Amino acid sequence: MKDYYTTLGVSRNAGRDEIKKAYKTLAKKYHPDLNKEAGAAEKFKEITEAYDVLTNDQKKQHYDQFGTTEEQQQHEGYSPFSDFGFDMSDVFEGFFGGKRRSRHVRGSDIAYDMDVTLEDAASGKKKRVTIHRMEQCTACSGKGAARDDDIKQCSTCNGSGYAKRTIRTPFGYFSQTSPCTTCQGEGTVLVCACSECDGLGRVRKERQVEVEIPAGIMSGFKLRISGGGDAGVKGGPSGDLYFVVMVREHKLFERDGQDIIIKVPISVTLAALGGEIEVPTLFGKEMVSIPAGTQTHTAFKLKGKGLPSLQGSGAGHEIVYVIVETPTKLTQKQKELLMEFDKTYTPKKSLLNRLFS
Ligand SMILES: [Zn+2]
Ligand SMILES: [Zn+2]
Repeated sequence: MKDYYTTLGVSRNAGRDEIKKAYKTLAKKYHPDLNKEAGAAEKFKEITEAYDVLTNDQKKQHYDQFGTTEEQQQHEGYSPFSDFGFDMSDVFEGFFGGKRRSRHVRGSDIAYDMDVTLEDAASGKKKRVTIHRMEQCTACSGKGAARDDDIKQCSTCNGSGYAKRTIRTPFGYFSQTSPCTTCQGEGTVLVCACSECDGLGRVRKERQVEVEIPAGIMSGFKLRISGGGDAGVKGGPSGDLYFVVMVREHKLFERDGQDIIIKVPISVTLAALGGEIEVPTLFGKEMVSIPAGTQTHTAFKLKGKGLPSLQGSGAGHEIVYVIVETPTKLTQKQKELLMEFDKTYTPKKSLLNRLFS
């Protein structure tokens, strides 16, 4: 009895993803196009058969229960490829480059997270970022073989990309057309794969890209660089590159849409006597005048010192809340002065005073 789990080198409770991953690795190693050693093709058939059974819920259940497949029970001469609906493209996508029958496959989109400071979000900035992506192999121009002579018509399907099989079922013989498993529907095979890309036509590259962060950007915005993603397969168009922006929290400012909010502590004497304070903004420092008799939590507006609108018209404001701080550590001298002050001070009659008088 064949042990499909051993064939793929996975445990009996391996999940679908694990099985798929194991198969991909082995298929790449033993695929007859890539591996010319004797026995590679046989091995490839074995692992494909194992994959086929273990990723088909019905077949897997049957196999787990009886140690064999229904087909094997029904027919002699089981062919590893005699399945219905086994989609090779599923497996080969990613490393043989794309789905069968469509030779020019668009590259994948790539997304990166991008952290920006509130200052950068306010002023806008150009940022250099390192990314990794699949690029067309320059050695073979994405064809998978360095010389055109190394790409041959597939002899299994005569270049059609399809294979026709006759299947015997309890209901009779059926003819079925499926993608050619030798060439994955490509119609061509590589006699000698490009050594740079192993015949894949694409190679992984590290790149520096410059990203323009527009002023006024908010968390969650996506910046798109059209065509900056993975290169397409066999001349297909490239995918897009995205940066998902996350505006970092600021240690001084809170953001409220286009406005920014800051709380600035001031002394009781400044609040009572009035004066000027220096306040940080996203664009440098500003002086704010505090009128005499300012109450705690009074808001002052610095016009246009918020974030600009992404649409390009108008800007938010900076809202400065002054927080009057009651002194906690007084010297003897200061206490005496305050007591002296208190003798001369009659507070305004508050609502509370009026209630009790
Ligand atoms: Zn190449
Ligand atoms: Zn073929």
